[in-house]
Amino acid sequence: TQARPRLPRWMKMNMPKGESYSKVKNLVGKHGLHTICSSGNCPNIGECWNRGTATFMILGEICTRNCKFCGVKSGKPLPVDPHEGERVAESIRLMQLKHAVVTSVDRDDLPDLGASAWVRTINQIKTRNPHTKLEVLIPDFQGRKELVQQIIDAQPEVISHNLETVERLSPQIRSVAQYRQSLEVLRTIAQSGCVAKSGIMLGLGETEEEVLQTMDDLLATGCKVMTIGQYLAPTPQHLPVVDYIQPEQFEKYRTIGLEKGFSFVESSPLVRSSYRAELHAGA
Ligand code: SF4
Ligand code: SF4
Repeated sequence: TQARPRLPRWMKMNMPKGESYSKVKNLVGKHGLHTICSSGNCPNIGECWNRGTATFMILGEICTRNCKFCGVKSGKPLPVDPHEGERVAESIRLMQLKHAVVTSVDRDDLPDLGASAWVRTINQIKTRNPHTKLEVLIPDFQGRKELVQQIIDAQPEVISHNLETVERLSPQIRSVAQYRQSLEVLRTIAQSGCVAKSGIMLGLGETEEEVLQTMDDLLATGCKVMTIGQYLAPTPQHLPVVDYIQPEQFEKYRTIGLEKGFSFVESSPLVRSSYRAELHAGA
């Protein structure tokens, strides 16, 4: 077997601490709340929870797709739980979040691909949490514009859709989603006037030139918020990391991205799609 690169020092996480973090952690434990931050062992949990940000997943825990970088279970999903949206809305209230991020598995099994459940959840969150900024990280809805439009009409503050990687590597890394189709989803969002946001992971074998091309492709859709982080394999069965990108290279991408015209670029090894999400909610 091929030797895998060792985890460099800048990828090591600190023990989360801080007053707000402890408060949120207690609430989460007491009410049995479910966040991606804790179930996904996110390295930023201390920082995000201290800032009043957390991420939730809806439409169950089983995805109809099977992307090679993703730790979510794949298979035949359970029927949609009609109370899921209320539960997430109530969790956001209990956690007193300033900024909530909601994402979902892909539901290619449902006739509307999950759009109505998305809209219900957004409405419930907004009703119970009128002061919380809401960011939704949506699937591609197989490129169906009318479904993306339903999400736009529900008026979350930010709509994200991740490209995940550069165009050349997309077919190897994403199971169904396509680079060009994802750009069209972002174009629909940006043209509506809503903040459009996207992200990619590095360390999958992409070149600098390809990363810069991805930036240009995003900007051409009107998307002006971008996240760039290091890919980590969720398990040894997942796609291995090709290389650990140096922090200086991430910084370089951030500078270039801002020069090219993005309003926000979060670019560093530990960045996840929802990291410091509250900063660009008004972008
Ligand atoms: Fe949670 Fe996202 Fe922050 Fe990680 S980056 S702790 S998943 S909000
Ligand atoms: Fe994971 Fe999303 Fe791919 Fe499903 S579609 S496997 S949740 S990245």
